[in-house]
Amino acid sequence: MPFPEDEQIEPAPGAFAWWRRLPLYVRILAAVALGVVTGLLLGDGAASLAIPAKLVLRVLGALAPPLILFAIVQAVINAPVSGRQSLRLTTLLAVNTIVAIVIGLAVANVLRPGEWVRMTPPVTNAKAAASAADPLTQFLDSVPRSIAGPFTDDGKVIGVILLAIAFGLSLRKLRNYPIQTVEDLVHVGLSSLVTILEAVVEVVPLAVFGVVASIVGAKGLSDFLALGGFVGAVIAALLLQGVYYLVRVRLGSWVRPAALLRGVRDALTMAFSTASSTATMPVTYRCLRDNVGLREQSASLGALVGANFNNDGTALYEAMSALFVAQMLGMHLTFSQQLMVVLTSIVASVGAAGIPEAGLVTMTLVFKSVGLPTEYIALLLTVDWFLDRCRTAINVMGDVTVSSLLDGKTPEKPVSPTLQNV
Ligand code: ASP
Repeated sequence: MPFPEDEQIEPAPGAFAWWRRLPLYVRILAAVALGVVTGLLLGDGAASLAIPAKLVLRVLGALAPPLILFAIVQAVINAPVSGRQSLRLTTLLAVNTIVAIVIGLAVANVLRPGEWVRMTPPVTNAKAAASAADPLTQFLDSVPRSIAGPFTDDGKVIGVILLAIAFGLSLRKLRNYPIQTVEDLVHVGLSSLVTILEAVVEVVPLAVFGVVASIVGAKGLSDFLALGGFVGAVIAALLLQGVYYLVRVRLGSWVRPAALLRGVRDALTMAFSTASSTATMPVTYRCLRDNVGLREQSASLGALVGANFNNDGTALYEAMSALFVAQMLGMHLTFSQQLMVVLTSIVASVGAAGIPEAGLVTMTLVFKSVGLPTEYIALLLTVDWFLDRCRTAINVMGDVTVSSLLDGKTPEKPVSPTLQNV
């Protein structure tokens, strides 16, 4: 999804400027540490601190459908492919994504990380909070659950006002953007949503602090230790997906897998350090062209189109998260429910923008599709900063694999035998 650098929000100077200059993961780690201390000190009294997380999740849920709509419309409008080539590309993307989800579900079904420790809801103790903080609960209730919600019959006018303020603020920086084509219109729509998303991500450390404090306050540290099992399972599944890519490259293209990894290591490290496949896109393209020596068209299709549509790491993560939470709750997902997880994870990964934490937004859809309570996503917030980086690297590796496969079994120009499969 093109998202020009110059439109990024600059942190406003002010009392918290130093805090906002810190990388997000540092802020989240600090929030976890502070949350643990606060939870230990306050005990059950920390229950109401879970409210910001609930708010963040509700806004993420409201943003998901329009974000997916605009992201896909924009990707389809801009896709420089046609006819047979698009069929080949679509098949490659679909197969890779389905393999990713199957790997994710298989690992989660085998390791069953959600059963290692039984947990109780992290944010449902907001019930206790509800009676304690009534005006707050009322405010929370007026935050829209969907963009269209406040406009329905029972809609609350405060919801309309909140939406108006959010869009008004996010459109301020785009107010002079000329709209001449439909593409411009879609771009403005998507950019305004992404701006709101970025603002919500700014609140994530506060949400993490609250979730950690309320859980530690009520139950001590055991829940967070259990998340370790989930992190390990996700990493194992992502590594398996990486191995699958290398085998595909070995069998379906002229590029030697080891040479490919060497050639794109800058893109992979950039993906890991930025947690954004969109930001990495130009580096991926340059690595594929200059270091690996793929044809211009294969490199651009994989890196540019792929970066929009192809988020296998995200798909795998969303499916695993749903299964993890179901296991944690002792909820058995039937085969057809797991199929539903597969389908919604595909949509969710295609619609996830290539920016940090985008997968969390679309995850709400996957959870809703099988009736899992979305408040459990709050628990995942605490480890998402790290898993986001890992899945972004796999997202980029997926793009690289598609490019190599599109390039076929013969290089454009003769290359050194060390770069080529024998
Ligand atoms: N951060 C990921 C990416 O840029 C998207 C996600 O959150 O899953 O590819």
